[in-house]
Amino acid sequence: MRSLIISDIHANLAALDAVLRRDWDVDELWCLGDVVGYGAEPLECIESLMTCTLPFRSVAGNHDLAAVGELALARFIPEGQEAIGWTASRLAGPRRRWLKRSALLELPEYGATLVHASPIDPVWMYINSIEAAGAAFADLNTQIGLFGHTHTPIIYYVDGSGQPDIFRPCAGQRIDLDVLGKPLLLNPGSVGQPRDGDPRSSCAVLDLDAHWAEFHRFTYSVEHAQGMIRAAGLPESLAERLAFGV
Ligand code: ZN
Repeated sequence: MRSLIISDIHANLAALDAVLRRDWDVDELWCLGDVVGYGAEPLECIESLMTCTLPFRSVAGNHDLAAVGELALARFIPEGQEAIGWTASRLAGPRRRWLKRSALLELPEYGATLVHASPIDPVWMYINSIEAAGAAFADLNTQIGLFGHTHTPIIYYVDGSGQPDIFRPCAGQRIDLDVLGKPLLLNPGSVGQPRDGDPRSSCAVLDLDAHWAEFHRFTYSVEHAQGMIRAAGLPESLAERLAFGV
């Protein structure tokens, strides 16, 4: 079983296209949530994933749940709230139903868990430190956890001495997961709003039989995504940040 792992698309169709148009040698497409929010092409991104020919498994992110009215807006930054309101007013019918799903999905047959944020709190908690990862391992029921939400490609793992540790992958690098140790928590980075200082779209491929992961980055038309955000009248900061990967 080999999966293409994507997360945090954030209604950025140009970035999603840059990933999906590749000729991937994978069996399934797994998405870790936040298909919508921040960006200005939410319906197009949902449509693209709904019509994808690969078998698709997904969890919902905090922006997805807020856009379908399942999560209060209070904890979102003001720009995020504005984009969610704009998105919610355009969502209806099958696309809205498609977006509404659980934020955590265990796949015991593959020894993997898909979660948007953290096994402790699937919707909101950020795994952004070794300490946070160490706590999250206690609630992870499989050997591999796949998470998004922080918009940063990373692997946290438990080393041979039982201590949590961190691995920062490079683009194009294939990582032997048996060398790192398990359990592990892997974040493929963000397709549509990277926050690690690299504006390129981020994703990962995970081979659950051969135990490796690859991280990939792709350039896309940031200008197109910015133009759509400006044309929609969404906050300028949401357009500007895409150029810097923050
Ligand atoms: Zn997100």
